[in-house]
Amino acid sequence: MNYEAFAAQLDHIQERATASLAGIDASDALAAWEREFLGGKGELTMLMRSLGGIEAGQRPDAGRRANEVKKGMTAAYSAKEAAIKFGGLTTRLAAEAVDVTLPGRKPNIGYAHPISLMIEELSEIFALMGFQTVFGPEVETTHYNFDLLNIPADHPARDVWDTMIVDTPSDAIVMRTHTSPMQARVMENTSPPVRVVVPGRTYRYEAQDASHEWMFHQLEGLAVDKTIRMSDLKGVLQELARQLFGPTRRIRFRCDFFPFVEPGVDFAVDCAICYGKGCRVCKGSGWLEMGGAGMVHPNVLRGVGIDPEVYTGFAFGLGVERMLMMRHGINDVRAFAANDLRFLAEFASFSAHAGRGSSV
Ligand SMILES: [Zn+2]
Repeated sequence: MNYEAFAAQLDHIQERATASLAGIDASDALAAWEREFLGGKGELTMLMRSLGGIEAGQRPDAGRRANEVKKGMTAAYSAKEAAIKFGGLTTRLAAEAVDVTLPGRKPNIGYAHPISLMIEELSEIFALMGFQTVFGPEVETTHYNFDLLNIPADHPARDVWDTMIVDTPSDAIVMRTHTSPMQARVMENTSPPVRVVVPGRTYRYEAQDASHEWMFHQLEGLAVDKTIRMSDLKGVLQELARQLFGPTRRIRFRCDFFPFVEPGVDFAVDCAICYGKGCRVCKGSGWLEMGGAGMVHPNVLRGVGIDPEVYTGFAFGLGVERMLMMRHGINDVRAFAANDLRFLAEFASFSAHAGRGSSV
């Protein structure tokens, strides 16, 4: 081959390579181009291998010329490679762009369960009247759950509670049926004066319906001192009703029987919806029953070594769910354990509105 023919082929390759490269915009096409022209078996490489066939006098010029073309094509390849890489980055950046001007998504910080909020509120109300909040075991012995509360084994009142009995050889362990066992536990460990409230879970073998749950919450109250009278009980419950349901609320006592008090009463608050006239919420009676209460039975005081000739006391119990249902017009007790966030979220701010405040 002479120099002229070599140079013509070189020009031809360069032209086609340049034209071909201009249309490339992806890295796989670029790799194919590189194989076609610059690779080990590429056109330029093959042509340069034929340099040896050129006349010796023209060979250096031909080699110089070929190297210039190769250098130019290699530079064009590198430039295209960078352009494709940079172009891809731009596209990706555009696709993954974060709009920092959008307002943030508010995290859900959660809140206490309405039962917890009500227990907290009740504890605060009673704290203002000098009562300390204590907690007791949910698994109890029959000794505390019944015997010390003036309900001996042969007493028909034991049947009233539909007790869940823990499977032990003696059957002497039960899921507590009320928070009242803490009356005896507190009095055993504390000398009068005693003023405590005991909130917590209680358990009964109940068929569930809109007003019955097998697990529910009570709040027990107990005051023992030398001059405690029925009027003290009435004053405390009156204050409770007014704090919970409004400053003009009145309460009503009616005779009732509980083995651990004498005399015993049920207490009710006048309906805040109809002011005693009778409506759907109070089922026409004008009154909403809050719980049971009475003067501590002398046998209960004796059982824990307190002389009923010297000391007297009152006790009361109320349902925590019931207080919420009455105040917020809830007609199904099962709502509290159904775990429906739409229901539970309704109570997120009620303690703050109640004025006594909750940090939750
Ligand atoms: Zn009413």
